[in-house]
Amino acid sequence: GPYMPTRAPDTSKVYMADLESALHYALRVEVARFSVLTGERVRALKDFVAVLAKYFPGRPFVQNFLRSVDRWLRNVRGSRIPYSALKLVLTNRKEVAPAVLSNNVTWVGCQGSEPHFRGYPCSLWTLFHLLTVQATRHRRLDPLEVLGAMRGYVQSFFGCRECAQHFEGMAAESMDKVRSVDEAALWLWSRHNRVNARLAGTATEDPQFPKLQWPPPELCHPCHSVVKRRQVWDEAAVLQFLKAYFSPINIFLNYTE
Ligand code: FAD
Repeated sequence: GPYMPTRAPDTSKVYMADLESALHYALRVEVARFSVLTGERVRALKDFVAVLAKYFPGRPFVQNFLRSVDRWLRNVRGSRIPYSALKLVLTNRKEVAPAVLSNNVTWVGCQGSEPHFRGYPCSLWTLFHLLTVQATRHRRLDPLEVLGAMRGYVQSFFGCRECAQHFEGMAAESMDKVRSVDEAALWLWSRHNRVNARLAGTATEDPQFPKLQWPPPELCHPCHSVVKRRQVWDEAAVLQFLKAYFSPINIFLNYTE
């Protein structure tokens, strides 16, 4: 069909196109739905962009972009932000220090077999796993910094409201029990698997990309162990795998690498 990629993405890789598309869609499409941001939404946007500016391992001009948006948001006085003002800050600048985030979406690892499958929600998960893992390199910080920013973004802006409700339910139940940045990365991994289990076999599942308990043994054999003849996760191995999978050297710029 017309939406099939020319070659299948490698499921052992993370693709920069998906991550940059997530940023574009989150900031310039989802946030843009609100002509004026107030209260909780201002807080959520500031926290989300602060985390991106700090931990997103982007190309230099994308990092410049995120840092300039972050600087602007930090200096906002008052409790309301018209999107018209934010829009100017989200415009690409190509001068001495280019600050650029591509204005379109390109799905590679998140390409679905039909346009209504995968795409943005897939890229948002990928982005937040990456951010929780990058934050583990900064051990002294608030373990809930990234998860809190994700929770706020999803609550305030994620267009799938049913998803937001489900996610808030999981967050309210156990997010505040997270005690370290390593636990934060594992919390998101295990909650994502819960969502995968709930959605397996439903209409949202792309038949070409069945919902798995992730990572499957082909991706991480040591993540799976057997205790009393039952399959269980080896969480230490999972953490090690997450740190390798969501590391800057495993992010590829295009299909052909
Ligand atoms: P996704 O589940 O989107 O995963 C993207 C990629 O992440 C996978 O391809 C894989 O490489 C990797 N991955 C998979 N599992 C894990 C894991 N456990 N840890 C780390 N990486 C992993 N849809 C609904 O219909 N109902 C909902 O309630 C719902 N809630 C959602 C809540 C949130 C916060 C988000 C971001 C999305 C939600 N969605 C929901 C969408 C749904 O979870 C999928 O994103 C969507 O169906 C696309 O699935 P996918 O096959 O592309 O893989």
